Amino acid sequence: MYNDNPTIKDVKKDLNLELNKPLSEKRQGEVLDLPSDTAQKKFYIESYGCQMNFSDSEIVASVLAKDGFGSTRNMEEADLILINTCSIREKAEDTVRKRLSVFNKAKKNKPELIVGVLGCMAERLKKKFLEEEKIVDIVVGPDAYRDLPVLVAGAEDGNKGVNVFLSREETYADISPLRLGSNGVSAFISIMRGCDNMCSFCVVPFTRGRERSRDAFSIVAEAQDLFDRGYREVTLLGQNVDSYKWENPESKKNVSFAELMEMVALVSPDLRVRFSTSHPKDMTDDVLYTMAKYENICNYIHLPVQSGSSRILKLMNRTYDRDWYKERVESIYRIIPDCAISSDIIAGFCTETEEEHQETLSIIKWAKYSMSYMFFYSERPGTLAAKKYDDDIPLEVKKRRLTEIVELQTSISRDENMKDIGKTFRVLIEGDSKKSSSDFKGRNSQNKMLIFPKMPNLKPGDYVEVKVLSSTSATLKGEIV
Ligand code: SF4
Repeated sequence: MYNDNPTIKDVKKDLNLELNKPLSEKRQGEVLDLPSDTAQKKFYIESYGCQMNFSDSEIVASVLAKDGFGSTRNMEEADLILINTCSIREKAEDTVRKRLSVFNKAKKNKPELIVGVLGCMAERLKKKFLEEEKIVDIVVGPDAYRDLPVLVAGAEDGNKGVNVFLSREETYADISPLRLGSNGVSAFISIMRGCDNMCSFCVVPFTRGRERSRDAFSIVAEAQDLFDRGYREVTLLGQNVDSYKWENPESKKNVSFAELMEMVALVSPDLRVRFSTSHPKDMTDDVLYTMAKYENICNYIHLPVQSGSSRILKLMNRTYDRDWYKERVESIYRIIPDCAISSDIIAGFCTETEEEHQETLSIIKWAKYSMSYMFFYSERPGTLAAKKYDDDIPLEVKKRRLTEIVELQTSISRDENMKDIGKTFRVLIEGDSKKSSSDFKGRNSQNKMLIFPKMPNLKPGDYVEVKVLSSTSATLKGEIV
């Protein structure tokens, strides 16, 4: 894409972006910050699940703000209550049903209140949601948020509404997210939507549709705008970022994920770049060499393995086996020696034997993940696994295997963090530590959280050098040097 030492000028020349032309002229509803509290109508939104959902809630907030809604964190003040739902496990859907019963009480006090369900559970259940949950007025899938103002207006007239159309184009590239509950330092940028993989346990392809990549220039422009507004870190989001591919309509050239990351990294050396989530079958060495080339692209990769057994990976339709995965991890550590890797692991998938469970434990031990998201298999209606395999592992066996995985991962995180004692890391201050307002918190390039005493004249968004003095399995403690 670029010669050896490209500059932001190169990127912006490509972008035809006048350096100083403010972004808002380009995108409707930009820079809205919190909508004015004087707004007549107010919405209250709760978000659950993955980062994509939280990022989508910011798109929803922007669409509603343009329609004159203000936002409130106080449910009692709301005219519209929205819940952005997750469907990845049964437990996630149970949580949504519990919240709806809470909203039911609010609606009893305010009958004109509109209640809407968004996200993956809305997409999975569609109009059945209205039958199952009488309190619900509108059901809106992840690709239909532009239609919210119309659906809300319809519900205000007493008409329940559903829009769960899954698009092959929609990326909301022209809608600028309204940063809800942001720390003003780090923000998510969704670079693509949907997923073309068909992992047999996963609902995402059914609830978020086919993969489509967003216009690369709109992504760089959003990163530039965030940087100009004081943000110092962006996380590029997608279900499978490595398969990002956008064809430039002018040059007819494709922009790959590695090239997109380089374009974003060139916005400023002081803008940290992270990304999530990677898929082992699509993560190329190009991505790794681009990470190694830019100090501001963080040395951290979330690389879900799901299982350590090649037979189980086949049943999961993960399209790679144990050896392929290990080769990817070896390449990461070869090209970026101080890279931290985290993972996703499912315990107790259909027909998993004790030996195959041991293979999962052994790959965790071998990969030395800094942390992992660990769950036992939860059968999801409509998935390939639900159609083809019996969910035959007893619950107590699933729980016991999950406990063993969590205990192993916790001890590995503890050991890996102890190796950081005495080292000094460049840390981006994100805000006050949860436990003490006399301490700052911030992460290093490896995405590890550091807690350290405040120093005068420093604020969130500043970079500091922190020497690690002690550690736990979850946190590093240190001092500014
Ligand atoms: S890669 Fe697999 S697990 Fe991830 S969202 Fe796509 S189908 Fe689901």
